[in-house]
Amino acid sequence: DTLINQIAAGEVVERPSSVVKELVENALDAGARRVDIDLEEGGIRLIRIRDDGGGIAAQDLALAVSRHATSKIGSLDDLEQVATLGFRGEALPSIASVSRFSLSSKTPSSEHGARLDIEGGKTGDVQPHPHPTGTTIEVRDLFYNVPARRKFLRAERTEFGHVEEWLRSLALARPQVELRVSHNGKLAKHYRPVVAEDEQLKRVAEALGQEFVGNCLTIDHGVAGLRLHGWVGLPTASRSSGDQQYFYVNGRAVKDRVVAHAVRQAYADVLFHGRYPAFVLFLELDPRRVDVNVHPAKHEVRFRDGRLVHDFVFKTLHEALAGTRA
Ligand code: ADP
Ligand code: MG
Repeated sequence: DTLINQIAAGEVVERPSSVVKELVENALDAGARRVDIDLEEGGIRLIRIRDDGGGIAAQDLALAVSRHATSKIGSLDDLEQVATLGFRGEALPSIASVSRFSLSSKTPSSEHGARLDIEGGKTGDVQPHPHPTGTTIEVRDLFYNVPARRKFLRAERTEFGHVEEWLRSLALARPQVELRVSHNGKLAKHYRPVVAEDEQLKRVAEALGQEFVGNCLTIDHGVAGLRLHGWVGLPTASRSSGDQQYFYVNGRAVKDRVVAHAVRQAYADVLFHGRYPAFVLFLELDPRRVDVNVHPAKHEVRFRDGRLVHDFVFKTLHEALAGTRA
């Protein structure tokens, strides 16, 4: 089983940022309002994720780290709609098979917390362990037992950069959740929770900086079951890269060529030719109109009607941007 898990880890776990992604998504699935992320040495030495979600009961700890023991797929319908972010039941066993792993947790209804350690896929006994309601997962020495994978890890700073970038993308989509990130004992980023709808720009400012917020248009347009909302940046002299591009379909960050093309067209068509588009855009549509790629690590989607989506995104942005020229 350890071997199967290590092979699965090859799919799910590429580097520290993929571990952070899986663990933070689990925390959000568990209803966390606050997630603390502590890293050492770019996450290679340590990744510790602590949440205040619903926790795992002591008697379920061993189950949570066994293969395909997901609590999240009730039916095929669920799978199709991907109601929650995680849906595969392999992240924890995969991560545990390539690290020194510990899971501590407490549910609101239990009096005491419990802890389970796994080293190189060998599961220890569940022990009583003090813990507030919620879950802490520690992942130490990633790939310590898979030297071929460890070789591919980059410098600390690079690995931490990947983590920061993934968190930025998450922070934009989940403004109500408080996120704290520390690296080598120093607080690196604190996304404060945003409660009111009209304060969402605060989160955008925390993620992308004041310059984006000071030069952006608010978008919110819906037609025929499609809604596009968010912010598009107006060109600024200093923007010299296409880094600030965030697109979400039903709350999930995705990379999609259809949409990328529509955005680029709209910019080029109006007046920003040769400038880099910057945007944070959320597309909402009936989940049955999108296929989510089942590959866990890819952020791709396929629209059932790509043409329609393309034209909707293009027209919405085109109109909004053209309005700024008048
Ligand atoms: P999946 O998320 O696809 O269900 P995982 O391997 O990521 O699979 O997690 C396995 C199970 O462990 C989850 O279904 C959930 O029941 C439990 N779990 C994992 N992380 C947490 C957490 N932070 N809080 C509460 N439960 C968790
Ligand atoms: Mg998961």
